[in-house]
Amino acid sequence: MTSDTQSPEQTDGFHLVIDALKLNGITNIYGLPGIPITDLTRMMQANGMRMISFRHEQNAGNAAAIAGFMTGKPGICLTVSAPGFLNGLTALANATTNCFPMILISGSSEREIVDLQQGDYEEMDQLAIAKPLCKAAFRVLNAEDIGVGVARAIRSAVSGRPGGVYLDLPAKLFGQAMDAAAGKATLIKVVDPAPRQIPAPDAVKRALDLLKGAKKPLILLGKGAAYSRADADIRALVEKTGIPYLPMSMAKGLLPDTHEQSASAARSFVLPEADVVMLVGARLNWLLSQGKGKTWGGKDHKAWGGQKFIQIDISPTEADSNVPIEAPLVGDIGSCVSALLAGIGSNWAKPPAEWLNAIAERKNKNVAKMAETLAKNPAPMNYHSSLNVVRDIIKSNPDAILVNEGANALDFTRSIVDMYKPRKRLDVGTWGIMGIGMGFAVAAAVESGQPVIAIEGDSAFGFSGMEVETICRYNLPVCVVVMNNNGVYRGDEVNVTGGKDPSPLVFVKGARYEMLMEAFGGVGVLATTPAELRKAMEEAIKSRRPTLINAVIDEGAGTESGRITSLNPQTAAKKK
Ligand code: ADP
Ligand code: MG
Repeated sequence: MTSDTQSPEQTDGFHLVIDALKLNGITNIYGLPGIPITDLTRMMQANGMRMISFRHEQNAGNAAAIAGFMTGKPGICLTVSAPGFLNGLTALANATTNCFPMILISGSSEREIVDLQQGDYEEMDQLAIAKPLCKAAFRVLNAEDIGVGVARAIRSAVSGRPGGVYLDLPAKLFGQAMDAAAGKATLIKVVDPAPRQIPAPDAVKRALDLLKGAKKPLILLGKGAAYSRADADIRALVEKTGIPYLPMSMAKGLLPDTHEQSASAARSFVLPEADVVMLVGARLNWLLSQGKGKTWGGKDHKAWGGQKFIQIDISPTEADSNVPIEAPLVGDIGSCVSALLAGIGSNWAKPPAEWLNAIAERKNKNVAKMAETLAKNPAPMNYHSSLNVVRDIIKSNPDAILVNEGANALDFTRSIVDMYKPRKRLDVGTWGIMGIGMGFAVAAAVESGQPVIAIEGDSAFGFSGMEVETICRYNLPVCVVVMNNNGVYRGDEVNVTGGKDPSPLVFVKGARYEMLMEAFGGVGVLATTPAELRKAMEEAIKSRRPTLINAVIDEGAGTESGRITSLNPQTAAKKK
């Protein structure tokens, strides 16, 4: 019996969960029904929430995580117990690593049985397992505590440095009935869930003084800057100071990539040359060579290049994680950037012309070289000739959201496809994780209503490819482009033993990925030339129909591990 049949004066765990989420403006749920949350998913839908059901929890989890990044509200992933929970956990850990606010809500089995390890259905101590992989974890045992549990989960996810939160809801909780008015009184509408954090005036002054004295300043924008939604102020800071900037992958489009102050095309020149670098919501992790080594002009792979750093971050412990941070600026990016703007005033001296000219010179050279490469039309097509098409499509559809994963498909797309608006590029993030593709694409379409273009390596696509059914079921305007080179990195490897198994790195040759989309009523297109690809992408954007384009590229195109070959022990050893 579900509580829908109960008298109107009663409420229960199911409805209190729904009411608590709705009270806090959360209406989209990404999940997968099953014991013990099947009725919850039905009731969520019946109560005006949008329940998006996936084929695998990891994809639902990735959808929730990126919904969190896109909206600044926690994205919700709802799963069943033990295996469903574990499937969602990868996404929760990834969300935490990337500072995306997300709440994984999982049903769980009977506490009494689980704790005595008496062998319940899907028995697992989920709370204990989740704890080390997220920012916070809570369990609610009584219906009257649901309001508090949801409130604490929301606050934990979005305040300070955002991240993943686990909320454990045992099966027994859902059916617990209580007086409706008393139940309503237990709910909490979270006031100011992500409070501003104002930077200290002396820290602002220290940062400005350092910036003022710089001969070769550089601003590095990270996805924390994109997340902060301080778009106008960040742009004003860059433009008023006249300092060249580099966007990290998911910060692309915060200012249009075609902005004249963008130093992207001169990245390998500006990093070692800069004397003062201001990090805005970017961490000096592996994506930035830990702030040291040859990338930064250090004399060997561990040496500090001598740059002085200003780091704007909401997390006070981020500074000095790798190299000394001379001017840490702790606070939310919006508040920090507006404090800097206020301190800059109208008589700010732009950086020395020598520095700007040197950058412009490299940039122009590299841009011209790239244009030449992009203009070629080899047969079969390669990454450049196909991504040149994607570049044009995004240029004429700047509101479209670009989802991107793979190795070479990731690296080439990031460098070739310009972004024009903030938070339009969603990719593998801090871990460089494969498998985010279709989960991100679904959430991007659901949360924004804009067309979504997912540029997928054929290997990367395989991790979440079954969700094309989900895309068709909800009729989402998603155009998936599978960059098909028949394998991982490239498709021409052979089994060196001459045995009958293929190389571990190759797939079925000539695979017809587009037929997967056709199987569920979407549009499938086989594209072997840039012209065919262009036509199919234009049509997909116009029609808004679920589309999968199998873009067949040269199986010899692509390098092992893309641009991070140095992380591959064997490759690195071979090179020595
Ligand atoms: P990227 O990979 O683009 O360099 P990271 O994820 O490494 O970006 O870094 C993002 C940083 O931004 C994190 O250190 C995080 O604490 C910080 N951050 C996230 N949101 C905010 C915010 N609203 N205000 C200040 N810092 C933030
Ligand atoms: Mg491939």
